[in-house]
Amino acid sequence: MNLARVGAVENISIVVGGDVCEGAGMIIYSNPNCRKVRNSHILAVSCARCKTFIANYQKVGESNFVKMYNDRIIDGVLDFSQHHGAIFCPKCNERIATRYMTKMDKKEAYRLVPSAFHKKKI
Ligand SMILES: [Zn+2]
Repeated sequence: MNLARVGAVENISIVVGGDVCEGAGMIIYSNPNCRKVRNSHILAVSCARCKTFIANYQKVGESNFVKMYNDRIIDGVLDFSQHHGAIFCPKCNERIATRYMTKMDKKEAYRLVPSAFHKKKI
């Protein structure tokens, strides 16, 4: 199930395809704060409950996927140029992540709810 395919990060092209349940008519916002990260791979994050696509994220390394830095989110179902207290699934309203400030580097990030999402390397 490849919900969204992202080309070169600088030149974002999005193909939303497939089933009706996979967000037909849903708007995908590209994140204007996104910066290209070297040696990263892209994870497609989706809702664990209803499988709706949430966001594409540049993940660095193989450590556990527990948070998303705002400036590594490529695109998603929220307008990430705005501040959000949390990320909710646009379809079933499940809370996917909560916004916080990282202690180490004081960066804005979203802490993922472990049971609420699926991730897929694309
Ligand atoms: Zn959902």
